[in-house]
Amino acid sequence: MLPVEQSCYWLATRQNYTPAASLSGQVDADYVIVGGGFTGLWTALFLKQLEPQAHVVVVESSVSGYGASGRNAGIISSSIDHSHALAITHFGKPEAERLAKIGLQNISELENFADNCDFERTGQLQVALKPAHLDYCHHNVEVAEQLNIAGYRVLGQDEMQAEVNSPLYIGGLFVPGGGVLNPIKLVDKIVSSMSSLGVQLYEKTRVLKIEDGRITCENGSINARKIVMATDAYTHHLLPQLLWRFIPLYDYILVSDPLSAEQKDAIRWHHRQGLVDLRTFFNYYRLTSDDRILWGTSEAVYYPPNKVDASCDHSEHHYTTLRESFKKHFPHLGNVDFPYGWGGPIASTTRLTPFFGKLMNDNVIYGLGYTGHGIGTTRVAGKILAHMAASKDSDLLSLKMVTDKPFPYPPEPIRGMSVNAVTHSLQKVDAGENPNILLKMLDMMGIGFSS
Ligand SMILES: Cc1cc2nc3c(=O)[nH]c(=O)nc-3n(C[C@H](O)[C@H](O)[C@H](O)COP(=O)(O)OP(=O)(O)OC[C@H]3O[C@@H](n4cnc5c(N)ncnc54)[C@H](O)[C@@H]3O)c2cc1C
Repeated sequence: MLPVEQSCYWLATRQNYTPAASLSGQVDADYVIVGGGFTGLWTALFLKQLEPQAHVVVVESSVSGYGASGRNAGIISSSIDHSHALAITHFGKPEAERLAKIGLQNISELENFADNCDFERTGQLQVALKPAHLDYCHHNVEVAEQLNIAGYRVLGQDEMQAEVNSPLYIGGLFVPGGGVLNPIKLVDKIVSSMSSLGVQLYEKTRVLKIEDGRITCENGSINARKIVMATDAYTHHLLPQLLWRFIPLYDYILVSDPLSAEQKDAIRWHHRQGLVDLRTFFNYYRLTSDDRILWGTSEAVYYPPNKVDASCDHSEHHYTTLRESFKKHFPHLGNVDFPYGWGGPIASTTRLTPFFGKLMNDNVIYGLGYTGHGIGTTRVAGKILAHMAASKDSDLLSLKMVTDKPFPYPPEPIRGMSVNAVTHSLQKVDAGENPNILLKMLDMMGIGFSS
């Protein structure tokens, strides 16, 4: 299997990338941010805007975008709450309405920022594969109306198949606001913006130890007033005490060869939306700017005990099931080859939205746990973390997502056993069975398991 830098379509086709130097020796800074993904890079950019004179440093163990930020599907949603219905369950209606507004403003700001990132503001299609999914589409329209969000629209079978041609579709839901982009181009755009403001980035610099006021790396150390942990699914490697609040999971994706003219005619997809189907373990898919199909699965894997490293970057089992599900969706496309395949780590929480906090005399600040919905949310998280680090006021700091912590996960070995039990139960629901007692109990407690 190829290393992820070559097997991930975005990383392998990255252009004009010049690696930053690695840290050597001792450096003093005002703020040091650990992790060069979206969270860390946005935080650095916003910190520098809040305090132009501050010395802000980002430290990345590999290359910027090496984690989930460079490996995701690039389907960006206009919401920052996983789903508006879930936000009402967890935070109440007024807060859900507030989150919805923040999400919409965020995506508009991001669109203005992300020129040259292949950003297409297409909206999203949620696909119904069975009648219960259609009920869910109607429910989502009602929820959107309750929160005063316009533009949600249920599509019948003909309308849905006119958009994207699959015999499996029985209808769908158009969700406005979101779109698709090239995630690694967004990473590079943020790096270039923050660098032009004077943020210092060190790549190939693994942080080995965090203390109050100091991080220690392989070949040097940085003293800083505040440290921001922006390491998402990798966070427990440095702060194991946070494992209660999240679980690291792996998602897998394939990317095809560019479609031929005949294949494009056969599939339609003229509006190029990002798609997800409405099963618990769903497929998500989109077209790339050169008309390849990115085909992913949310059937996320937990590798006990909380393993996150390069050995999880590929799963033959997932690649096989992805190829099979693709054939079922699009039998009329003939043999489509998928030369790219990879996995990446996400951090999931029981409420499927991120959490934030402070440790070590409030000098170490963290924010993580976006599940598979981080492209938009990490930008808001960057603002939150920048304000927390700089001790500056912001409306965002009063969000329940920031003030309240998610319900904890059990530790190992119960964690692994619970994940297996919940996964099997959810697979049965996707196969048509009713939710069992375990799922009903989790549902009553508002606990989710999904990417
Ligand atoms: C396969 C997949 C598909 C996804 N699809 C979507 C999607 O379509 N839409 C969506 O909105 N979201 C999606 N997501 C989720 C989204 O990509 C993430 O939520 C988001 O990128 C998280 O960004 P981050 O910066 O917090 O974490 P990351 O991007 O993981 O960044 C953390 C960084 O920290 C670095 N690091 C770790 N340990 C250390 C250390 N000790 N020292 C220094 N650096 C360290 C890592 O190398 C990494 O670069 C997907 C994720 C995956 C994996």
